[in-house]
Amino acid sequence: MGSFKDVVGHKDIIKYIGNAVMEDRVSHAYILNGERGSGKKMLASLFAMTLLCEKHGPDPCNECHSCIQAERPYQGPYKIYIIPEADRMTAQAQNALLKTIEEPPKYAVIFLLTENAELLLPTINSRCVMLKLRNIKDTLIKKYLMEKMQIPDYKADVCTAFAQGNMGRAIMLANSEHFNEVREEAVQLLKYIHEMELSEIVNAVNHITVYKLEISDYLDLIMIWYRDVLMYKATKELDKVVFKDQIQYIKEQARRSSYEGIELILESLEKAKARLKANVNFELVMELLFLTIKEN
Ligand SMILES: [Zn+2]
Repeated sequence: MGSFKDVVGHKDIIKYIGNAVMEDRVSHAYILNGERGSGKKMLASLFAMTLLCEKHGPDPCNECHSCIQAERPYQGPYKIYIIPEADRMTAQAQNALLKTIEEPPKYAVIFLLTENAELLLPTINSRCVMLKLRNIKDTLIKKYLMEKMQIPDYKADVCTAFAQGNMGRAIMLANSEHFNEVREEAVQLLKYIHEMELSEIVNAVNHITVYKLEISDYLDLIMIWYRDVLMYKATKELDKVVFKDQIQYIKEQARRSSYEGIELILESLEKAKARLKANVNFELVMELLFLTIKEN
């Protein structure tokens, strides 16, 4: 069950689907391209439901025989094939698929879900209608988290900033206990780092090694924090601050650090990420980073 009305964002794609169904201009093959969590599978499933719906409306009716049985194979007018991770198919598999797309069985509609459609053979790309999923506006994501998931304001802000337009990611973060833990760790460190001795910083680094796998999340959180500091220093506006529940510390940091210092910290965060990717010693990278933060 489901409806396009419940989908956040993607209005252009939804409009396209509605028109294609109503005007009987449905193509045999579509590529739905977008990053992980952006909603490709959901849109393809709703598109399929709409095609099979007995009411032939622009949106599944959720009442007819077909809509109610949407989870089971149904003998409707269309045969629907949804192929996830199509961009990971081998060249041979793609060539086999190409034959199907070139001479599709009657009433077949094929959905190729991709994160990077350029990886598909050009011959496949040119025979499919491309539907590109775009980033969803922060305001829409935040609204969804607060209204549908009852996430408190300050947490919704962090999850939204972190998700960068990706609804699936925002929901995943909002549901994640672990994300809260990582966030708490980062906040505690950023609050007190200026009063910490080197030995305490080393301890903090050791503590983070627990989160080694999520270290990029941890660094992203620190980055959001310093973007807040920079934003507040430059504008004195509170409504754009992501860490709203830590505003007292953001203000203090903005007072303490120079523009150059904050820029330096943001640069060293980028550097740290790059170095970790290049497998430079973890403790070394993090100690260097924290010293830069402490000194600025
Ligand atoms: Zn229906």
